[in-house]
Amino acid sequence: IIRIDNIVKRYGPLTVLDGLSMEVMPGEKLALIGPSGSGKTTILRILMTLETISEGFIQVEGEELYHVKKAGNLVPADERHLHKMREKIGMVFQHFNLFPHKCVLDNVTLAPMLTKGMARADAQKRAMELLDMVGLADKAKSMPAQLSGGQKQRVAIARALALSPKIMLFDEVTSALDPELVEEVLNVMRKLAAETDMTMLLVTHEMGFAHDFADRVLFFDRGKIVEEGKPEEIFRHPKQERTQTFLRKII
Ligand code: ATP
Repeated sequence: IIRIDNIVKRYGPLTVLDGLSMEVMPGEKLALIGPSGSGKTTILRILMTLETISEGFIQVEGEELYHVKKAGNLVPADERHLHKMREKIGMVFQHFNLFPHKCVLDNVTLAPMLTKGMARADAQKRAMELLDMVGLADKAKSMPAQLSGGQKQRVAIARALALSPKIMLFDEVTSALDPELVEEVLNVMRKLAAETDMTMLLVTHEMGFAHDFADRVLFFDRGKIVEEGKPEEIFRHPKQERTQTFLRKII
């Protein structure tokens, strides 16, 4: 469903992704792990078309994501193409990024009404189903400021799901949360993984969760994939010394 071919991402003199290639199969659950600054978040942002790339190709469902050269970078063809591609992908961020002046229900209905032209009643019906799924139907009329971090993050997940994406990207979604709130968010993700056939890519520092959740784990270092494999291979029997050192430090 995703093919990334030899991409390079530079910020000025800094090369953040250095000839990265990877493929993701439909329905696959991937965990991206690795040290801070290794480019994991950048790859999600690139898939979400929140960035440009310097070189390379990315296809989502066989369609090119970035194909116009502009000021030395590759950018999406045009706004229409961008919107079409973005509908396929939902993203949940570390810091929730909810609209602070909108209630929970409006946070979830806004995108489907604006980008898909969904009628308010339909958008609200779907939003209530999603809020129910994340256990927050009773908070529909609350404002984000009245919610805990874990609740905000569950709203953010419902909001991303409201556009019915085929691919969901999760960027360190629990790392801004108090420890006792982490589990409620992970539970929602477990449920999604079990009950849907969505393709899911997860950047995480929660190695236990990555182990249980992922079909495949990719270990990143300095803008490259150093090692990849099934969770038990990567966590129990890492082959590369770099992976071994990283895991020894954090587990
Ligand atoms: P972390 O686990 O800390 O989030 P990461 O592996 O997700 O790390 P990225 O966030 O992808 O790493 O960042 C990779 C590198 O790119 C870092 O060195 C970061 O400082 C740099 N970087 C990211 N965004 C920008 C930007 N907008 N301008 C310049 N440098 C950036």
